[in-house]
Amino acid sequence: MISHKTSNSVGDEFKSLWQATSTQLEIDSFEDNLDCDILIIGAGFTGLSAALHLSELEQDVVVVDAVEPGYGASGRNGGQVIPGLKLYPEEVRKQLGDEKGNAVINATNGSADLVFDLIKKYQIQLQRSLGNLTILNEELDKLKGDIKAIKSRNSQYRIENEQLRKKIKELENKIEALL
Ligand SMILES: Cc1cc2nc3c(=O)[nH]c(=O)nc-3n(C[C@H](O)[C@H](O)[C@H](O)COP(=O)(O)OP(=O)(O)OC[C@H]3O[C@@H](n4cnc5c(N)ncnc54)[C@H](O)[C@@H]3O)c2cc1C
Repeated sequence: MISHKTSNSVGDEFKSLWQATSTQLEIDSFEDNLDCDILIIGAGFTGLSAALHLSELEQDVVVVDAVEPGYGASGRNGGQVIPGLKLYPEEVRKQLGDEKGNAVINATNGSADLVFDLIKKYQIQLQRSLGNLTILNEELDKLKGDIKAIKSRNSQYRIENEQLRKKIKELENKIEALL
């Protein structure tokens, strides 16, 4: 359940492109006490993702927002899914140490997969982005070409081939999610 105070609803002048072009959400409002095990404050990507994953674990969770879901940065961004950190991996490890640094790097590397897996799992409606599809298809063709080149090249074939096949599968899943 997502709750907010309807009296604070966003006026047209503050709506982002996404808010202005999407269907209005039906959300409950509350004025009095709430009863729940876990209360999440802020219905942006962080709060909503936490709520989704907690509810998948059958937790009793409520998200509240001062205005409405996506009112903050989550409803006003460019919508680009680009896994990566501003810092180079060596710098991340230098700042956080190997264990924590690698955990952050691995989580970041898997972030796009998490987004596309959620899109697929919950059948989230999204506009096709031809730019993304073109890039992914080009990457796919390149990987297939790499496999051919490796096959005719060296004894490392099996290992590299397996890694490339994994990447191809990931790309195919992303393309499928975009379609
Ligand atoms: C212009 C712009 C472009 C961006 N482009 C991209 C992009 O292309 N790709 C990308 O991956 N990232 C992009 N980002 C970053 C991304 O949008 C943010 O990292 C992400 O949305 C942060 O989500 P959040 O849930 O932490 O915060 P927010 O989305 O800001 O959510 C916070 C929520 O908390 C609510 N709130 C605040 N205080 C209270 C309170 N006291 N009580 C109740 N509710 C409260 C707010 O109303 C808001 O809804 C962009 C950011 C900006 C600003």
